[in-house]
Parts: sequence; C-alpha cells; structure tokens
Amino acid sequence: MPMNASAPPIRPTIRGGAVSELDRARRIQRIKKLLVEQDAVLVAHYYTDADLQALAEETGGYVSDSLDMARFGHEHKAQTLVVAGVRFMGETAKILNPEKRVLMPALEATCSLDEGCPADAFGAFCDAHPDRTVVVYANTSAEVKARADWVVTSSIALRLARYLKSQGEKILWAPDRHLGDYIRRESGADMLLWQGACVVHEEFRAQALVDLKQKYPDADVLVHPESPEAVIALADMVGSTTAMIEAARTRPAHRFIVATDNGILYKMRQAAPGKEFMEAPTGGRGATCKSCAHCPWMAMNSLASLESALTTGAPEIHIEESIRRRALEPVMRMLEFAASQKTEVLGLGNA
Ligand code: SF4
Repeated sequence: MPMNASAPPIRPTIRGGAVSELDRARRIQRIKKLLVEQDAVLVAHYYTDADLQALAEETGGYVSDSLDMARFGHEHKAQTLVVAGVRFMGETAKILNPEKRVLMPALEATCSLDEGCPADAFGAFCDAHPDRTVVVYANTSAEVKARADWVVTSSIALRLARYLKSQGEKILWAPDRHLGDYIRRESGADMLLWQGACVVHEEFRAQALVDLKQKYPDADVLVHPESPEAVIALADMVGSTTAMIEAARTRPAHRFIVATDNGILYKMRQAAPGKEFMEAPTGGRGATCKSCAHCPWMAMNSLASLESALTTGAPEIHIEESIRRRALEPVMRMLEFAASQKTEVLGLGNA
C-alpha cells in the first residue's frame, strides 16, 4: 500500500483580516485596471470566494472547473492567465498554455490530494505494479501527471474505467481513494487505489446528513464523489462540480443539500435563483456545522493576493519543459477519449 495511507491530512493556516467596504471597492477597481494594463484575464475556480468569482465574470474572465479554466485560458487572446484556485490548476493551465504567463494569487495554495501524492513515492508505487494502466485524477502535480497514462476528470473517470475494463486492462488509480473506490464500485474494474483524500470532502458525515434529510425531506442531496462511501450512498445525484451545478438548475426540487466545497453555492444560486441550498454537515462541529466545508487552500485566494500577483508579477507558474511535455500526453489522451465518446469533459478535478 502507498506510504501515505494513514498520514493525517495537512491543513494550512489562513492569513488575512477584515477590510472596509471602501477598501474592498478600491481594490477591485485597481485589479480591474491592472488586468487591462497587463493584458491579463482572470479565471477562477468554483471553490474560490464569491468576490473573485464575481470579478472574473465582470472582467470578461471565467469561473469553472480546472480543465475548463485551462481551456478558456488557451482560447483567450490574453497573454497572461491569472488562475485563482490551487496550484495544480495553475500547472494544468501552464501544461496546456506553455506560451503564456500563468500567475496565481497564492502559490502555496495546494491541495491535500496533490500533497498526499508525492512524485517519487508515486513513481515507486507505479514501478511496483508495471502491469497496471496508470490513471490519475487532475488534482495532482505536473510530475505525477507526467508519470500517468491517463489524466481524468470526475465526469470522464467512470467512462474511462469501463473502457479500460473492456480492454482487459487493470488500473492503478491515484490519488483520491473515495473517488477511486466509487469508480471501482460502479465500473467493476480491477483498480488498485492510492490512499489519498480531500480534507474537505472527507469531513462530510453520513449520520448527520441523514438527520438533516429527515428535517428537510423535500431536499435533494447532491454529492461530489470525493466524499466517503456512506455519504455517496445517501445522494440523489453524484457528480463533478459542473454536473452538480447543472443538477441544481435542472432538477425539480427547490431545496438542496450540497456535499462539496461551499464556494460552489455562488454559482448554484446564480444558476438556480429562487432555490434554497444548504451545506451538507461536516464532522468539525457536529451535525449542525456550517462552517467547515471550505477548502483552506482555496481560501488563500483573496482580493489582496490577487492584487499583489498582478502588481509584482509573482508568483508565476513554471514547469520544466520535459515534464510539461510528458504531462501533456495523458491530458491530451483524455481530451481525445472524451471527444471520441462525444462527451463534454465536465469538471477536471473537483476540482
Ligand atoms: S477541496 Fe479540492 S483543492 Fe481543496 S483539498 Fe479538496 S480536492 Fe484539494
């Protein structure tokens, strides 16, 4: 089994403080000016703060999952992409857009899945199982992607597992054990799992969710498959971030319990005005906890760190070219597979 199997998840310390409404408005204006001056476009992930998502939309940027963010950046004429999200998203943007400058508000904004799957240990794991096809989730470093046969999204992963199974291939999956186990259960594929987990999704609690559902029996439960199996078992719908937003829009229910990072509620409320959204309960403060379902690394993206990145030109994403080229191959393989399936790749990582 991988060495990290029992390692406790790491959580960073969040810095920052309250700012006045006037300071906030001034900062937003300065950022808008800097974006224009620097020929830059802001692409933000669903899990970032509402301020950043709104700013991306107001300035002609984009809010989405990480692949879609990278695609948007690729097609946009701006020479600088400012990626508000976590580091692997900036790296994915750079893998697909090597000719562009990729800035991030906070380079230390990483991800427990990425942190829990170091390239050297993962390489040794792959070396120990040379008979398996290596499939990695998007929430991994460029070095880990460079070792993979396939990079997958949460929406394409199940389809790919079924395809590989039909080809008689056995899968080595990394890094999220809950997502991997969900795909294994659904596809019946032979999958060996790296034992990583997301610090946010692992906190959702099944019994507390049952209690909440009893209180609101009319609510549909939307669950991201990085959640534990017992939570997934209670879902009315399981899917990637983009698929969850679409479900909120199209399902007839008027009330939803949402088991993923609470940053997604900004887009859900936009997509389905008039509907009611509740965060699924987490373990942090018992069954009524409403404060824990937010990624501590996503929270490092702020108006202040965004302004600083645009002012200083740092931090910037750099990837050694041989690694970038190797990482590009499994990403392109996924895109071609999705095209062959006539499937839109929704949600690269829950990210
Ligand atoms: S919410 Fe996303 S970025 Fe944050 S730790 Fe979990 S998988 Fe990583």
